[in-house]
Amino acid sequence: MTVFDQVYIGGSWRQADGEKRPLINPDTQAQDAELICASVDACHAATASARRAFEAGWGRSDLLTRRAALNQVITQIEARAEDLAQCISRELGAPIDFARSAQVSAALAHLRATERAMTTRPQDRPLTTNPDHRLRYEPLGVAGLITPWNWPLNQVALKLGGALAAGCTMVLKPSELSSRTALILTEAIHAADLPPGVFNLITGASDIGAALIASPDIDVVSFTGSTQTGRFIAAEAAQRMTRTTLELGGKSANILFEDCNLETALTQGLAHCFRNAGQSCNAASRMLIARDIYDDAVALAAQIADATQVDRPHLSGAHIGPQISASQYAKVQAFIAGVETQGMRLIAGGTGRPNHLETGYYSRPTVFADVPPDAPLFQDEIFGPVLTMTPFDSEEEAIALANATPYGLAGYIQTADPARADRVAKSLRVGMVQVNGISREDGAPFGGRGLSGYGREAGLWGIRAFQDVKSISGAALVDPV
Ligand code: ADP
Repeated sequence: MTVFDQVYIGGSWRQADGEKRPLINPDTQAQDAELICASVDACHAATASARRAFEAGWGRSDLLTRRAALNQVITQIEARAEDLAQCISRELGAPIDFARSAQVSAALAHLRATERAMTTRPQDRPLTTNPDHRLRYEPLGVAGLITPWNWPLNQVALKLGGALAAGCTMVLKPSELSSRTALILTEAIHAADLPPGVFNLITGASDIGAALIASPDIDVVSFTGSTQTGRFIAAEAAQRMTRTTLELGGKSANILFEDCNLETALTQGLAHCFRNAGQSCNAASRMLIARDIYDDAVALAAQIADATQVDRPHLSGAHIGPQISASQYAKVQAFIAGVETQGMRLIAGGTGRPNHLETGYYSRPTVFADVPPDAPLFQDEIFGPVLTMTPFDSEEEAIALANATPYGLAGYIQTADPARADRVAKSLRVGMVQVNGISREDGAPFGGRGLSGYGREAGLWGIRAFQDVKSISGAALVDPV
């Protein structure tokens, strides 16, 4: 059995000597590798190494140096794109074509967008036309990056790119379920030849994550994961006023008005909800539908869900794969079973695996209709391929329903009326809106409000998350660094 037992500190690989964890393949449910985690001592060594690298010069490095470094990282990731896709497919259960065309390519696209953002915004800028006053963006210091397993390369790339571009040094602690992807990424970073200590990798679970954010060496934390862990991290960070970006859960609404193209809206809407086996924070998991088209929408949604293929990760095709772990599978199954007993109208899917799959954490693409806003199904993030459908009678009601959960990550609007799209987009209490299936631009800020967290990732916003702004009055810019 393969054992993954390395951490990366101060520019070199070291033997990990912490807890041992079995790595279970979500397709076979069998153990196919073992992870040896970092110890708390290794965590301290990693933060100390990042601190030294920051003080030794990375914190004062110029934009061109950092841009060249980021370009090197991108080149080295590109060289390992297929290895990364295979690894993501194996450890997450992502179908291989999806792993290549979405998981890996999203990461590269975000890194390139970060690189583009660096070319347009120098770290010193005038405040107004008066040259006596300027703004200077400075790196916050050592960044602690804690990431989840659902987009195991992309989530890391968003943080790594922003931190590197900002001039921070960093310690990454990826999810214990997706550390193999992070190890390949670290090989790419090692080959990119950054100054030692600029990037450090430690592996481990919640205890190592907690040790990382408790370290006095950490100046800024960027976390993506559950709202529950986000609360813990925010409370910890408050002890030292550590700057924090939190990208947490979601329960995003997809509003279908009567003038939308129903077939397109449903095909895209269900695909978005089921994508990555429902394991995306911005999944369009609550569909709100104008009463006039509701019955047609429900009938069509049942057909589309029934036709959604679920299959093995190694097979080519547009199917969805399993949930990542036994506990995620149990959570999704318990949710579906619970809702069935509450008498809600199940129109597709249900509990259990699809018939043709005997092993694996595979859920059935599931749709419930007539879901009222006070139902847990409407309120809670499930992180599985489960869609709710709820009718509305007016634009005001649609907006109220969309805003009726404590989350505030994304909103989706389907309408042929541009004025309505504009009104509703402005009324949604979320960080991101997409109208008529238009994808987000790669450098657009990613993040949300309420229980979805705070701060933004990607592009210029992702860089600024790792910087502080200083105002300087009366001292002209002499040295451009
Ligand atoms: P998910 O259910 O999506 O894995 P979690 O919030 O449990 O979400 O995990 C996201 C990341 O946060 C993982 O890297 C995990 O190891 C880490 N983590 C979990 N608990 C803590 C904690 N108390 N302190 C710091 N990191 C944590």
